Amino acid sequence: MPKALVIGAGSAGPAVAQLLTRHGWDAPVFEARAALDSAAGLFLNVAVNGRRVLDRLGVTTRLLTDAHPAGLMQMYSSRGRLLATVPNGTAGEPDAGGVVVRRGWLQQVLWDAAADAGVRIHTGRRLAQLDVEAEGVRARFADGHVEHGDIVIGADGVGSAVRRWIAPEAAADFTGLVGAGGFARVPDLAPTPGIQRFVFGRRSFFGYLVREDGTVYWFANATASAPPARSSSSIDILAQLRELHGGDPDPVPAILANTTTDIGAYPIFRLPTVPRWWRGRAVAVGDAVHATSPSAGQGASLALEDAAELAAQLVRADGHEAAFAAFEASRRSRAERVVAYAAALDRQKKVKGGRVGTAFRDAMLPLFLRNATTDTRYDWVFDHRPPEI
Ligand SMILES: Cc1cc2nc3c(=O)[nH]c(=O)nc-3n(C[C@H](O)[C@H](O)[C@H](O)COP(=O)(O)OP(=O)(O)OC[C@H]3O[C@@H](n4cnc5c(N)ncnc54)[C@H](O)[C@@H]3O)c2cc1C
Repeated sequence: MPKALVIGAGSAGPAVAQLLTRHGWDAPVFEARAALDSAAGLFLNVAVNGRRVLDRLGVTTRLLTDAHPAGLMQMYSSRGRLLATVPNGTAGEPDAGGVVVRRGWLQQVLWDAAADAGVRIHTGRRLAQLDVEAEGVRARFADGHVEHGDIVIGADGVGSAVRRWIAPEAAADFTGLVGAGGFARVPDLAPTPGIQRFVFGRRSFFGYLVREDGTVYWFANATASAPPARSSSSIDILAQLRELHGGDPDPVPAILANTTTDIGAYPIFRLPTVPRWWRGRAVAVGDAVHATSPSAGQGASLALEDAAELAAQLVRADGHEAAFAAFEASRRSRAERVVAYAAALDRQKKVKGGRVGTAFRDAMLPLFLRNATTDTRYDWVFDHRPPEI
């Protein structure tokens, strides 16, 4: 039985492990975190292209038991004017659009489905050293455990240790945006079924949705010249955000005022291009080779697409090198195009030049967004279909 060591149990890791296991591989997953915490993290968009992979994994019905369908995105100016309603999916198909889910819940669902298929997920195992030889791979973990396999799949995210072995020269760029977010309950704030809202605030970009039960999911993207110090406390970050968004339209200040959960600030990085996605018996997938800013809502979906494509190639191809080469050939241009698209969206979010810059941006946004509702130019982002596997 061929054996793949899968490093990382975010989105791509459990997905590729499940698909390979179904096809007769041994594909144990090694995750650095001590345990799965389904309440940890914020939330993310799973776009329709990612949802097609979830269908293949058999997890859609369960995931949707705790999801906010968001086929439409409403964009507001810093004065509270509705600028445009934009499809979160193929134009004109809001019912077949993306869904917003807590990141921890997506992981719980993917882990459980992988375990049901027979995958062993080992937590508390951080890859520390990789030895890739002609006959096989040896992974050494920080706790001293050693594991042997035929190939290694790096699904270990933007700071990937496997990518460092494959392409040590590749480094992630700071996007100039710092993300933060949390959950709140705001008295009398109505649910936003089918919709996520975005506000081009005076000094920072803000997004939110209101679940049927009244829970508000929100995030902010502030412009920064350098990544923030890691030491800021949740209270300090919230105080800064309340200040930054103080002059923005309702309900933004109210959401921040009513946030009582812990929040964190994290610098947003991207990997526009990585020169090699595989080397010898090692290959990397997802954020490890094409991390994108969250602006296009595509990070998890691209990682899931990669998982389906790599598994299909490994099952079909004659040997791992042919499979890795075919995987990279089929995925690279699409992934890099999405990362570039998200970078273009990042530029619209950034606040430059004080009041004059904000006034200029507010004047230009309606022009950019004028045909957004029916614009089919971005359908390519969502049209991808995973291979049969
Ligand atoms: C705040 C925020 C909002 C986001 N919003 C969106 C969104 O709206 N839409 C969207 O599609 N995406 C979004 N993303 C991005 C999305 O979460 C990722 O793009 C996606 O999960 C990528 O999947 P992955 O499997 O490649 O990597 P990850 O999900 O990052 O998983 C990597 C895993 O590897 C583990 N790991 C790392 N190093 C090691 C090691 N040495 N040994 C073992 N394990 C290791 C990590 O602990 C982690 O569990 C967002 C991200 C953030 C931070």
